[in-house]
Parts: sequence; structure tokens; C-alpha cells
Amino acid sequence: MPIRQQNVLAAQWAPNGEIIGAPDLTASDNQIFGQNVFSPAIQRQRLPKDVYKRLSKTLAKGAALDTSLADSVALAMKEWALERGATHYSHVFQPLTGLTAEKHDSFYAPTGEGTALAEFSGKELIQAEPDASSFPTGGIRATFEARGYTAWDPTSPAFILENPNGALLCIPTAFVSWTGEALDHKIPLLRSMDALSKSAMAALKLFGNDTASRVFTTVGPEQEYFLIDEQYYFERPDLLTTGRTLFGAKPPKGHELDDHYFGSIPERVLAYMLDTERELAKLGVPIKTRHNEVAPGQYEVAPIFENSNVGSDHQQLTMQVMQNVARRYGLVCLLHEKPFAGVNGSGKHNNWSMGTDEGENLLEPGDTPHENLQFLFFCAAVIQAVNKHQGLLRASIASPGQDHRLGANEAPPAIISIFLGSELEKVFNAIEQGEVGESTPESFLGLGTPVLPPLPMHGGDRNRTSPFAFTGNKFEFRALGSSMSLSLPNTVLNTTVAEAIDDLAEELEDALEDGTEIEAALRPILQRSYAANKQIVFGGDNYSEEWHSEAQERGLLNLRTTPDALPYLVADDTETVFSNYGVLSRRELESRYEVFLEQYVTKLNIEAEVAASMARTMIIPAAARYIAILSGAELPELASEVAGEVATTVEALRALESANLEENQPHDALLKHAEYMRDVTIPAMDAVRESADKLEKLVADDLWPLPKYSEMLFIK
Ligand code: ADP
Ligand code: MG
Repeated sequence: MPIRQQNVLAAQWAPNGEIIGAPDLTASDNQIFGQNVFSPAIQRQRLPKDVYKRLSKTLAKGAALDTSLADSVALAMKEWALERGATHYSHVFQPLTGLTAEKHDSFYAPTGEGTALAEFSGKELIQAEPDASSFPTGGIRATFEARGYTAWDPTSPAFILENPNGALLCIPTAFVSWTGEALDHKIPLLRSMDALSKSAMAALKLFGNDTASRVFTTVGPEQEYFLIDEQYYFERPDLLTTGRTLFGAKPPKGHELDDHYFGSIPERVLAYMLDTERELAKLGVPIKTRHNEVAPGQYEVAPIFENSNVGSDHQQLTMQVMQNVARRYGLVCLLHEKPFAGVNGSGKHNNWSMGTDEGENLLEPGDTPHENLQFLFFCAAVIQAVNKHQGLLRASIASPGQDHRLGANEAPPAIISIFLGSELEKVFNAIEQGEVGESTPESFLGLGTPVLPPLPMHGGDRNRTSPFAFTGNKFEFRALGSSMSLSLPNTVLNTTVAEAIDDLAEELEDALEDGTEIEAALRPILQRSYAANKQIVFGGDNYSEEWHSEAQERGLLNLRTTPDALPYLVADDTETVFSNYGVLSRRELESRYEVFLEQYVTKLNIEAEVAASMARTMIIPAAARYIAILSGAELPELASEVAGEVATTVEALRALESANLEENQPHDALLKHAEYMRDVTIPAMDAVRESADKLEKLVADDLWPLPKYSEMLFIK
């Protein structure tokens, strides 16, 4: 297999059963890589030849599944799973909560003679009906008509999850209502991959590619997370219930040592990482890198990229395994976007590209004129899509956790912009100016000869502050939150880029009709598209004040909070593109909009309740005890200093409790309710926190009821 092909399909299960581009594992690791996966290699061994052939066609081409195969596959899968100790199977799916859901069913059915028989047929493989009435559907399904079905996704391999007391066969599935609407994140993702494949294939034909049969989108997520000692975790009701600390003063200055970033990894943490990677290797998840991140106690892990569907499933699995394995080491893995105020938050970088089934990465600049042209075409489509749908992209990553990370002080801005790198930006600027070939003959010579300087794989400079950066042969959407599913942002990328590809390809097709050379035909199209969309391109410091005002002048959206962003999920442009490409119907979009608003309100209500209860039952009592001690010790000045701060806390607490009262919240419209949480509840919580954090610095350490930041972040 050519190296280029490996590039795109890396660590994907090839139709012929080989693991392509598996990570660089040692010999012993190699034996465990994929050992718990019902991979094409296993399928080839265990399935009748013709069944295997027909199934791999589905896997390779995204063709429709022949349901008559299901019984054979189910039988082979069951036998394989039973041999590996599985007693139960589960259809796993991704409801709109963004979490992974599973319901376990035993393989064994009673025979009526006091024994049990392992039963699992095609019917059980293909479809199940979880009692799913309480998953959010945003009004698609009233609970009395709670029918929802899970349907087998044969393009994402089944796997076995081990547990000290047994094993579970997990079957990746889609979750759909009985009326056929998507109730999950997988269905729209699969639809969007089809849409993009169709558009990109049509465009590739214009560039003379007649051999590719499908275009895959690829994703490689870089996941940030914190690890803290589990003892602290259990002592903090806020972490336990909400995933973030609602109180906690910053540690004293100077405590934060810069040498953590890429520093050596503490032994317990490394042991945890190795174990996690081993577990993930068994599940066929190809982890590639690990290192310390910027904040103390913060780390990062990244797999080799895979196609978007498998990559998203693997990402869900990765988060699950990371959290499970941490407990073996007395650690807790925090995936919240902002577990500690004032300390760097955690994100997830979504590396995204498109590649053919023959292994050609469409965002690889290449070094021949032909490749250059094609690359520029696809790159221009991405720029156009991101500019046109910047609000939707922002909405696809909105959540209450993200609101602490994006658009807040000293945090990445909530403005979507693209970093191309200076070389590529120069090329597009020259195209726009019509200067090609004349002004900079040194670096590129016109569309007929190499258009781009041969870009190194990790093209040119870097910009860590950009939310959407070209990084050599892929785009990196950096604004995802650490706890998020990859599905929605990738669905948005795939669908909107499909639309832009079609837009550009249509023009190109027209221009080619009268026999114009492709170079000459493409040039004005790129020129127009870039001129119309270059407002989204920005190479400077995204964190700077100047950018905020410049972005405003350019007319870019700055959607600071979730309630600002979510309405773009149901904006006209969004509905048009999603319905044109058959990815999400209006009803499905509205249901998502509703579910996300509801989650925002619910999560903030929970945070507010936890904050109020901690202030009332932990923080104020501790301060009161200390006041008594100080008074007893005849230190009235100190006592009154603390008492003053307690009074402020109590006042703020009353305001929070009142904000939190059901009857004080608007219930007539969800968006209004969400805005209320943002504008009233969050400031009320912040006020309680402000004085409580001052108390943390006043009250005797041995009386303080909560582990402090300095302990949680620095004890490893
Ligand atoms: P960088 O140094 O730019 O971060 P890496 O090679 O370390 O690049 O890759 C970072 C992440 O990007 C990895 O998870 C990797 O698998 C992913 N990645 C690389 N190429 C692609 C691609 N073509 N499509 C999607 N993701 C990719
Ligand atoms: Mg990166």
C-alpha cells in the first residue's frame, strides 16, 4: 500500500481486514492491539466467505446493508464474544446528552427446562428497543409514545469491554424514533459523511479523478484533561455533582511552575496513562501522543486519526476508559471544560480532513500543479463554508462548560476565524489580487506551474490562539470543549463544506464546458470565493483586544455565551443547508435546539443549587466556628473582619437562593429561561463565590471544609 494511502486511512480497519497504519507499538503491544475488536480480520476468519465479502462491501463503500447477512454475522459475533467471556451484549448509542448510553441484555435465554441457551440472532444484532423514554428528544417524542430504536452500525466495529467480573459485547448503533427521526448524534454524522462524499466525488471528477469511489472525512482529536487525587474529589460536592469547582481561591502567586508543560510526567500519572493506552489498544483505539499540558495537573492525549464515524465512536470510548482507569490509581479524570477558575481550561482539538478511499488526502498541498489546483479548490471550499456558517460552527460547540472557556476574560475568544499560515495566506492573497505569476515568481509561478511552494508537512508557522487553523494537511478546529462528543461539530463541518464544494464545483463545471483549461477556469472562481470570504482569515493574536474590535469591524460574529450561539442551530442558512443535504430536518434541528437549551438551564440550576448548599452548610458554618474561636481568644478585630465577610456571603447567598426559586424563573420560553440563567443566576453564583473565596483565605486552614486548589492541583 502506498504511503499516501496510509496517511488517510491510518488505523482504519481496511476492508481486507488489515489494520492500516496502526500506531508504532512494541511487539507485545501489537498482540493486544485490537484484540477485543470484532475487526474485519476476525470477521474474515469467522464468517462464511460470501457473507464476509458482502459485509466488507458495506464497510468500504458505505453501501446499504443487506439485512439477510445479519443472522450469519450475529452468530459469528456471539461465538467470538462468548469465547472471550462475554455474558451480555449492549447496543451502545449517543443520545443528545452527548454521553454514551448502553443497556445490557444477557445472551442467555431460559429454555424452560431449567437451563439457559445463548441466544443472539440477526434480529437482536440489527435492532433493539431500549426503554428510552427519558432520553431528551426536544419534543419529537412524547413519553407515552416512547418508541425509539437502536440500529446496528456495521461501519463501526463491535468490541468487548472487559470488567473484572465479566465482559460485555458492545455494538455501536444509531438511535432513531419510530417515526424515523434521528434521536442521536451518529445518524446526522453518517448522513453528513455521505453528503460530503457525494459532493467531493463530483468535484474530483472535474479534476480528472475517475478512480476514487468514496471520500471519507477524517478526525483526530487531541483531548485535554485534568487528573486529581480521588480523595479530594470526594470531598468536593461541587466536583462530584457538576464536574467543576464552584469555590476555591487561586493558589498563592509563584506556586504555578511553568515547567509543568511538556515536563516529565509524574510516575503515578504515567502508570495511569500506560494502562489507559493499553486498554484502548485492546479496543483498537490507536493512541499516539501524550504529554503534560499548560496547567498543573493537566495532560493531553491524542490518537491517530480515523474516519469521522469510527473516530467519534472511539473518542466516546476514550473518554469512558480514561475515567474508568483513573480510579485504579486513586485518581479522578476531570473532563470538564473549566474545572478550576483562573486556571487554564480543557479543550479538544478536532483535526479534520477529507481523503479518498485510495488514500489521497484532499487537503495535502502536494507538489505538482495539478495537486496544487485541487488542494486550493478544497481549501477555498473550507474557507467559504466556515465564513458562511460561522454562527452554526460556534453553536455546535456551545455548552455551559464552554462559556468559561470561550469569550471570557483571558480566554480564547468566541469569534470564529481561520489561520492559514503566512505562506498559504500569501498564495490566496495573490490569487485574489490576480497577481499570480508576476509578483512573486520565486515562491509560486502561477496556476499553470507549481502554485504553492512545496509546503512542509507541518506547514510553516503556528498560531496557538486561532480557533480554526490550517496545520499542513488538515484543519484543526480548536474550539471544542474537552467533554464534548465530536459528532455535531463534524456533522456541521462535513455538511457546510459539502455545500461550498458544490457551489464552487458548479461554477467550475460551467467554466469548463466550453473547453477552457482547468487552471484558467479555476482562477476567477478562487478569486471570487476568497474575496468574498477572506474576512474570516486572521493570522494575528486572537486573544488581543485589537482583534475583538477588528473582528467587529469585519462583521464577524462574536457569540460569547451559549444562549447567544444556540439560535444559529435553527437559523435560515442552517435549515437550508441541512435540509438540502438531507442531514437534519427542520424538526430534528429544532429538537436539538430545544434539548441543548434545556440542558443549559438544567446544568446551571444544578450548579446554583450546589453552590447555595455548599455556602450554607459548609462555608458559612466553618467561618462561624472560626469567629467563635477568635472571639474566645479575645481577637475581636480578626473576628469582626471574618464576620464582615460572612455578612457579605450571606447577603449574596440570599440573592442566589432567590434567583434559584422556581417561581422567579421565566418558564414561558426556553431561550428566555436560558438568558435568565446567564444574566441572573450566574452573576449571583459568582457573587457568592467571590466572598466565599475571600473567607477561604481568612479562616483557619484546619477548619476549612474543602480541599484547596493548591492541594488538588499540586499533589500528584
Ligand atoms: P500537529 O503537530 O499539527 O498537532 P500531529 O501529527 O501531532 O499534528 O496530529 C495531531 C492530531 O491530528 C492527531 O490526532 C492526528 O491523528 C491528527 N491528524 C493528522 N492528520 C490528520 C488528517 N488527515 N485528518 C484528521 N486528523 C489528522
Ligand atoms: Mg495540534
